[in-house]
Amino acid sequence: MNVLKFGGTSVGSAKNINKVISILDNYSQNNRVICVVSAIGGITDKLLKAADMAQRKNRDYILEYEAIAEKHHSILLELIPSGNETISTHLSNKLQDLRSLLDGIFLINELSPKTSDKLVSFGELLSAFIIAETMKNRGLDCIRKNSQELMVTNSNFTKAEVQYQQTNTNIKSYFSEAKEQITILPGFISKSTNGELTTLGRGGSDFTAAIVAAALKVNSLEIWTDVSGMYTTNPKLVKQAFPIENLSYQEAMELSHFGAKVLYPPTVQPVLNLNIPIHIKNTLKPNAIGTKISNDFIDNSATPVKGISNIDNIALLTLQGNGMVGIPGFSKRLFESLAQEMINIIFITQASSEHSICFGIDTKDSQLAKSAIDCVFENEISLHKIDPILIETGLSIIALVGDKMKSHQGISGKMFRTLGKNNINIRAIAQGASERNISTVIVEKDVKKALNALHERFFEDKNKQLNVFITGVGNVGERLVEQIKQQRKYLKEQLKINLKVVGLSNSRTMIFNDDGLSLKDWKTELQTGEKATLNGFLERAKDFNLRNSIFVDVTANEDISKLYGAYLKHSIAVVACNKIACSSSFEKYRELKELSLKYNAPFLFETNVGAGLPVIDTLNNLIASGDTITSIQAVLSGSLNFVFNNFDDTTKFHDVVKQAQKEGYTEPDPRIDLSGVDVARKILILARESGTEMNLEDMENDSFLTPANLESNSVDDFYKTLIDDEAHFQKLYASAKANDCQLKYVAAFNDGKAKVGLKEIPQGHPFFNLEGKDNIVMFYTQRYPEQPMIIKGAGAGADVTASGLFADIIRTGNK
Ligand code: ADP
Ligand code: ASP
Ligand code: MG
Repeated sequence: MNVLKFGGTSVGSAKNINKVISILDNYSQNNRVICVVSAIGGITDKLLKAADMAQRKNRDYILEYEAIAEKHHSILLELIPSGNETISTHLSNKLQDLRSLLDGIFLINELSPKTSDKLVSFGELLSAFIIAETMKNRGLDCIRKNSQELMVTNSNFTKAEVQYQQTNTNIKSYFSEAKEQITILPGFISKSTNGELTTLGRGGSDFTAAIVAAALKVNSLEIWTDVSGMYTTNPKLVKQAFPIENLSYQEAMELSHFGAKVLYPPTVQPVLNLNIPIHIKNTLKPNAIGTKISNDFIDNSATPVKGISNIDNIALLTLQGNGMVGIPGFSKRLFESLAQEMINIIFITQASSEHSICFGIDTKDSQLAKSAIDCVFENEISLHKIDPILIETGLSIIALVGDKMKSHQGISGKMFRTLGKNNINIRAIAQGASERNISTVIVEKDVKKALNALHERFFEDKNKQLNVFITGVGNVGERLVEQIKQQRKYLKEQLKINLKVVGLSNSRTMIFNDDGLSLKDWKTELQTGEKATLNGFLERAKDFNLRNSIFVDVTANEDISKLYGAYLKHSIAVVACNKIACSSSFEKYRELKELSLKYNAPFLFETNVGAGLPVIDTLNNLIASGDTITSIQAVLSGSLNFVFNNFDDTTKFHDVVKQAQKEGYTEPDPRIDLSGVDVARKILILARESGTEMNLEDMENDSFLTPANLESNSVDDFYKTLIDDEAHFQKLYASAKANDCQLKYVAAFNDGKAKVGLKEIPQGHPFFNLEGKDNIVMFYTQRYPEQPMIIKGAGAGADVTASGLFADIIRTGNK
């Protein structure tokens, strides 16, 4: 004998019912089969919704009813296209009974738990009827048995307790006489010893099947559903989740108790002592292995954590007060008061000081719990021995489950570190004495992020997902997107980094996809994106609430730089080539650094100095390893280098600057480069990163420009003054030539002071032969006192800047 249970989706359409029938047909070739069915997917919810509307005097319950009736009729018609008068009349009559019950609820304006059970039982009765009649109609040896005649319970409506003795006797005696190869049983529904209709609790069809399997001591119980087994975590929330091949009964119970909806928690109980294995199988993919729940397997899974589950809608209640300390009986009174109200406690922790007890229940029970507890402790509350109970809602429980967790140390540490790194606040923690479960309470909005981060930590150990939001796709930004597109495969395969561009924006439009944009035709896609706003982009990045989120600023926009703090406060890392934030006031710079530390969100700006050259990273590494910077000498302007490498007595200064601008080596306003402001900002950033508190005003800027150049009030005007002052520039060149020197614009940081200015560099000096748009930085430190550490290479250009940003993005993943 086989017992198979098919859930709501499995019987949710004619197409799926046909799949069910073919599975049953197959099984029944060799063996008798008992098939427990759920209501058609979604019908139980719809029945409850219609009843709720009716009791509230909302006539739209009729519309809900009609949708229910239509669904059943259309499925039947699809299953038996030729029609069958008797079957369809019977269905219509049944539906008419349902309609009368709803009308009654509407009239009396009331829905008791007893009526509710009577009403929802229509769901299973109807689906069992349709399936059984279809099978009979197709000539299969099939019978339908009403489980209300087998399952006996008490009168706890909506979640009745099974009276096993009577139930087992009924099941055994019925099946000892039944002769049909296939029996269809509606799940979930039952009858009390007083003859009232009851149900076994939402999701209870699994339980019906387990009770039948245990009563008949069959060899195995099969739960057929819409996923290929019990997954490592909820597959609807974590795409990378995968089915667990083997689970012990205890692990399955813990996972289902803590929210893995695929198995109704009480299901394990009846089969556990009889060692009947439970197989979870997928109706839509019958060949998938699925999950086997039993106690007879060798667990050689890679991690002691077998699964992670979650329960939403949790309210956390805290009872505290000095009057509780050392006085026995408090917990007893507390939990008795909840038991009397039939409130299920999901989670308990008590500090060893006994000063407070904290427990989690379903939010819907929280007000009832509060009044019950306030009533029981009325006296103590009035004497201020304990405080009135505190309720927090909008919470969820996340639980790690695994039999082998108890013999492994450091799992909770890993769990808390992973949550902490993602800025997920833990409101409460509990670990059962069995150590099979560690559960934490967190805010509901963080659940998806927490599950993904924990799943990555425990099951995809070597994989890391980075979720990138890029703003500014001009010259550099475009190269960055292209580089990411090109490297994604390599990163995934070689570095186990799954880099997803989730958001992309220019000044006009923005596009998003939390699974990662395909980037195939991103430019066209961006053109048709939604209207971009700086705050809109921030809000979306916050709302996605993805782990390892990184905001990348590829603009030179001051307003964007003002939002870095807001990103960091939401644990979104910031990677910027925009120099404004780090070179504005020291206070602002320090604040961002502090936010980065506080919220565990890297703030990286390597490309602020020397484009793709690893200048800041090297400096940080020197300092982190205990070195001290004594001096920095550098040529940091690709544009000024280009200008002075090309300017001589055969050229004109004006023409060379024009050419530099044309070739994209200067800012749109070349005065920013030529005045030395850009270089000053860079050395300022290096000075700050070396640990010096400094502002731009503190810096010496020995400009080589003439007063007329500096006072020009437009770019055109500036170019005119360059022509007028050609003699001045030729003089600078002539002097350098006479001294056998090269002109270089040098930034220096010494003894806590920084300055920038044009210098004549003699032969033999490392700066002398600096070519093209190259940059060079020399670090003199305690460990490099005489021979400096030198970093040299292209310090400008879209490709190298993009690759510098790319390196920062990858670095955030290593932090
Ligand atoms: P049925 O109607 O077949 O009883 P349920 O909806 O009750 O199906 O349970 C299956 C659903 O459980 C899946 O579709 C999935 O969304 C959800 N689920 C939650 N956690 C898990 C998990 N750890 N493994 C598998 N499914 C899970
Ligand atoms: N139909 C019921 C429910 O939706 C029972 C079940 O499907 O297991 O809760
Ligand atoms: Mg279910």
